[in-house]
Amino acid sequence: AAKKQGGNQVVIYNEEISKAKNKKLQIEARLRKAIKNEEIEVYYQPKIDARTEVLTGVEALLRWTDEELGFVPPDVFIAIAEEAGLIHPLWEIAMKKASSQITSWNKDRARPLSLAVNFSAKQFQDPCSLVKQVKEILSEYQLAPNLFEIEITESTLLFNTKETTRALETLQEFGISISIDDFGTGYSSFSYLKTLPINTLKIDRSFIQDIKEDHSNSEIAEAIINLARSLKLHVIAEGVEEDYQKEFLLKHDCYHMQGYLYSKPLSKEEFERVWV
Ligand code: C2E
Ligand code: MG
Ligand code: MG
Ligand code: MG
Repeated sequence: AAKKQGGNQVVIYNEEISKAKNKKLQIEARLRKAIKNEEIEVYYQPKIDARTEVLTGVEALLRWTDEELGFVPPDVFIAIAEEAGLIHPLWEIAMKKASSQITSWNKDRARPLSLAVNFSAKQFQDPCSLVKQVKEILSEYQLAPNLFEIEITESTLLFNTKETTRALETLQEFGISISIDDFGTGYSSFSYLKTLPINTLKIDRSFIQDIKEDHSNSEIAEAIINLARSLKLHVIAEGVEEDYQKEFLLKHDCYHMQGYLYSKPLSKEEFERVWV
């Protein structure tokens, strides 16, 4: 009986795997279609200088709601896109829609907004053509390089080849800022902070969530702020949801913030209603 049960478990296990595989293939197929039919949207999350509550820029975040699948979280479809070789077209959507949108919003603003776009590690496999295309898109949509920011995670730097470093240097020399997203979650050594062209550390949401009303568990957030100061890097906190988190960050000289306390990511229409 035990053997039989074991056998059944294997069957169930295999079924689970093939179900998950089918689901992935389904998402991939729908994603291809969504890209082709331009069904992928860009949302904008404000970045705030909490000292003055002034809006300084936005981060572009992709959104996809499929007829069959419903809302698919970006974490899910970005991972599948990376495997399926679809990350480049998704990136182009984010770059083009957001650049053109920011340029249009900036026409009516005394203080221009900056734009941050997330880049995935896979894109640095061909760093030369990436640099070329970034420059082309910014120029086509008339967005000044000093208003443009690249968000990469530490894992991008794991494949840190000479060419990746060179590409980041070229982009930085061109005026673009480089931010390390989800900082503190991905890497064991900080030595790259001294050798790579980096402008900003973006403190991961998990460390901001550790800051409680009594400021307990706030050591890592504080350490990252101090690290940024020592290395003369900018610092921004993501996932700021509570007033006491903002107060803690301000007290420790981290002024730039992003999070539900100020705003969730918004569609173009929502953003215009509230912020333009
Ligand atoms: P990320 O770049 O770290 O983006 C921040 C995520 O945190 C966003 O999730 C945002 O909606 C969420 N968030 C912002 N403020 C708060 C807050 O106060 N509380 C909480 N709980 N969450 C907050 P989202 O939009 O689901 O995106 C998830 C991830 O998907 C992004 O993480 C990014 O890694 C990836 N992603 C999104 N768009 C793109 C893209 O165009 N290209 C690439 N390569 N990745 C993207
Ligand atoms: Mg980001
Ligand atoms: Mg992040
Ligand atoms: Mg994150």
